[in-house]
Amino acid sequence: MTSLPDVLRDTQQSGHAIGHFNISDLVLLKAVFTAARELNVPVLVGLSEGEREFVGARQIAAFVRNLRDEFDFPIFLNADHTHSLAKGMEAAKAGFDSIVFDLSALPFEENVRQTKQAVEALKAINPCMLVEGEIGDIGTGSEIHETSPDLSKSLSNPAEARQFVESTGVDILAPAVGNMHGMLKSMVDGETKKRLQIERIAAIKRAAGIFLTLHGGSGTDDEDLRKAIAAGINIVHINTELRVAWRHGLEEALAKHPDEVVPYKILPSAVDAVKRVVVERLKLFNDKHHFAQGT
Ligand SMILES: [Zn+2]
Repeated sequence: MTSLPDVLRDTQQSGHAIGHFNISDLVLLKAVFTAARELNVPVLVGLSEGEREFVGARQIAAFVRNLRDEFDFPIFLNADHTHSLAKGMEAAKAGFDSIVFDLSALPFEENVRQTKQAVEALKAINPCMLVEGEIGDIGTGSEIHETSPDLSKSLSNPAEARQFVESTGVDILAPAVGNMHGMLKSMVDGETKKRLQIERIAAIKRAAGIFLTLHGGSGTDDEDLRKAIAAGINIVHINTELRVAWRHGLEEALAKHPDEVVPYKILPSAVDAVKRVVVERLKLFNDKHHFAQGT
């Protein structure tokens, strides 16, 4: 079985990106895994601290490892947005393939200092674990937001990207390039889209020279995502779109079968709703639209 670093190098070589999808239950995991298998593309499953709290870090690690082995399929596990070394070490010991060590809320120098320490401590537990650091501000909460925060003043720039990467030794960098966590109501309704700063991504890629992750991908303009991947983005995070689909799928099933109590008869509707979103996103990240059209 190939490793996550190998898969990242391969996808970069072919001009694609790996889809990263957050999960907090079996419905979401099933939807993500089924979609990736159907398209035969590698996939990253992520859990934030809150999502890990709910599912269990060691338990989800065992589950994903089992899927990878049983089906000989490149599904990998990421400890998303981890804010303390203690939580990071817990994920490293549980066997996560990568971690987002996110101290982007701290002043830059302090972010550098503590991220460097975390890289050393985490690699001491598992030298193969990839560590991602984050700079700039892209807001918090993969939820529906009422208003858009002003993130224009905290975009990442190439100079600080280079300095951060050189000083910390991270494997992956998450910059702020017009992306934002969560979605506005108008984005859920499809009326507005997030737009990305493609030139900034390209400049940061040149300066940083390592893998780049785009967080908060939900609700982003398709063409901007394609251009962002061409400019150097290697991993795209989608969470809120899945949560919205999860809820709609569930509501639809409950409305259709008001007296049903059997979970495995109700939940497939939620799996399908989430899977449809994951399939579309994976096709986009892996440039597979032409396959879908049979050409
Ligand atoms: Zn994120």
